[in-house]
Amino acid sequence: MLKSISTTFLVTSVCMLASSVFAAGGGGVVTADATKHFDTKGKQASTYTIELQTGLRKSLPFEDKRDFEEAKRGFIAAPEYKQIMADAGNVAWDMGSYEFLLKDGATFDTINPSLQRQAILNMAYGLYEVVPGKIYQVRGFDLANISFIKGKTGWIVFDPLTAKETARAALKLINEQLGKRPVVAVVYSHSHADHFGGVRGVVNETDVKSGKVKVIAPEGFMHHAIAENVMAGNAMTRRMFFQYGVLLPRSPYGHVDQSIGKNTAAGNLGLIEPNVIIKKDFEELTIDGIKMVFQNTPGTEAPAEMNTWFPDIKTFWAAENITGTIHNIYTLRGALVRDALEWSKQINIALHKFGQDAEVMFASHSWPRWGNDRIQEVMRAQRDTYAHLNNQVLHLANQGVTINQIHNVYKLPDSLRDQWAAHSYHGSEEHNSRAVLNRYLGYWDANPATLIPLSPEDSAPLYVEMMGGADNIIKKGKKLFDKGKYLHATEILNKLVYAEPDNQNAKDLLADNFEQIGYQKESPSVRNSFLAAAYELRHGMPEGASPKSTGPDMIRGMSTGLWLDFLGVRLDVAKAEGKHFIINFITPDNGEKYLVELSNSALTNIEGVTSKKADLSITMNRSDLNQVMMGAVSFDDQIDAGKVKLKGDRKPYDELKTMLSTFTMAFELLPGTLPEKSTLPAMNKPFKQDAPADSSGG
Ligand SMILES: [Zn+2]
Repeated sequence: MLKSISTTFLVTSVCMLASSVFAAGGGGVVTADATKHFDTKGKQASTYTIELQTGLRKSLPFEDKRDFEEAKRGFIAAPEYKQIMADAGNVAWDMGSYEFLLKDGATFDTINPSLQRQAILNMAYGLYEVVPGKIYQVRGFDLANISFIKGKTGWIVFDPLTAKETARAALKLINEQLGKRPVVAVVYSHSHADHFGGVRGVVNETDVKSGKVKVIAPEGFMHHAIAENVMAGNAMTRRMFFQYGVLLPRSPYGHVDQSIGKNTAAGNLGLIEPNVIIKKDFEELTIDGIKMVFQNTPGTEAPAEMNTWFPDIKTFWAAENITGTIHNIYTLRGALVRDALEWSKQINIALHKFGQDAEVMFASHSWPRWGNDRIQEVMRAQRDTYAHLNNQVLHLANQGVTINQIHNVYKLPDSLRDQWAAHSYHGSEEHNSRAVLNRYLGYWDANPATLIPLSPEDSAPLYVEMMGGADNIIKKGKKLFDKGKYLHATEILNKLVYAEPDNQNAKDLLADNFEQIGYQKESPSVRNSFLAAAYELRHGMPEGASPKSTGPDMIRGMSTGLWLDFLGVRLDVAKAEGKHFIINFITPDNGEKYLVELSNSALTNIEGVTSKKADLSITMNRSDLNQVMMGAVSFDDQIDAGKVKLKGDRKPYDELKTMLSTFTMAFELLPGTLPEKSTLPAMNKPFKQDAPADSSGG
């Protein structure tokens, strides 16, 4: 029985590798029997883990139940279905898979009690009234909420989810319940995919192009929606398997929540370019009779983000800047480190400009808050948590605490720990405190011994030898495990696994320690990372990574310069050694030109420049390049079809074609987890661009 679950699990995960670009955590819906571990090698919570959870149940402010009242308030209706299917035929969304959490009075020792509480709060499902007759939200249809503002004639949609299918279902639900109205405008609060990807489920591109429907976004939206996730996109997508626990079945032993929602939807992710850009710090617009004041908040949760104030109804939309969790300053899938101080300052600006009068605050995740005192309480709690994080980490750093110590030293004050809105579900105090230090001082602790460290593979055998070999380490590792010293056990077992990647006993024991750490953690990103790593150590990562599907909208929206930059990342330097060429690359339909040069095994480009000394000039329309980037046709096909004009020596083009690597996700995050050395897929379309990594969830 357990074996068969495991098999389904692997089959699903193989599919996930194929589609995960658009399915961060959401694609393979696997629900296991909640009463037992889904994994034959899995363990129950240890006595130490149970003791910790019991202590937390007694010490955290569980008597404060206002979040539960707010999460239920204004409920109108839920659909009869729990699953939303993707047009491609897979399950895009399944709230039913988390229902074990709602079993009356159930406590799970394999889930941190604070996380269990958050996971239940995120079970809100259906249509909710936020401001009577004015503002509604559909929650529990995707990672984010979709919000509807009732204008004179139609709906203004705030943040149309990750997938066309879930957004479409939400629009259908509200139209059925409250009367059919057209969508007259869409607001993208920021550049992460769970806030724009479903736009095609609520509007037609033609109506946006004609200006009939306004699509409003903050300055820098288009650039950041794509650019943040291209250069390291493949690695980010692979790392999402850890942060989002893509392989983990939904179970008290597996995936229980994603902090700002249950999970992300696995549907059709699109992007329609906005036709109204908010550029100033504050800008007022009236659309369909609704007056809105936008507050640009760049450099907070996303590089392009904005809040919105509705002065006529004293309602504040906090985008993803204030939700039911402290967010990621560093997101574990990989992203540039964010600015906790700027985030705190932008909340402070909103608190003083809008928060003094606000009677309702709603956001793109979690539940709304009502009443000015409550709103100010939550705004202050989050403002102060980000400020405390930034300031206290730097306070300690200025006294010599390093990046390798800060997470063991940094602590929230009790006054914040006693407020649920200051808890770090999406971030964690551990990885966020390291992030702040990294932002200011970088990764080095200033000890030369760590400046040029040996690779783990090179250092581990020395340690293992000095520790007296594998048997000694396993014996000690077991002792530490039995005492509940999971981080200590991890320290030595990790060395052994690096030294002996085929030592399954070592990998299993390391996995047991990871698992208990995962059970204990409040942040689902951290929990998932430990539990997913335990799974890969026990069973290996899935094989069969097939070519990723590309997202036509995301590729179309990518600048030619970014595509050329990424060709530079894909360049196989061994093949480029000793070669030199200059190519002029001209796209007349958008009036752009680039000079592309290969020299010293580096491929560079400069916009707006061409060279008279170029070996080759390539002229083609960007619209024809789109087809190549999407993989619909090859570059050679476009040449054969007469859509590309080559002038000069074509050799550089033919050489470049053979110098580009294609990235796959078949690489290990932990030693000894790749079942077989996989072969690279044939590169018949070397200029095809991978879709950017999914930025859902920030
Ligand atoms: Zn989001």
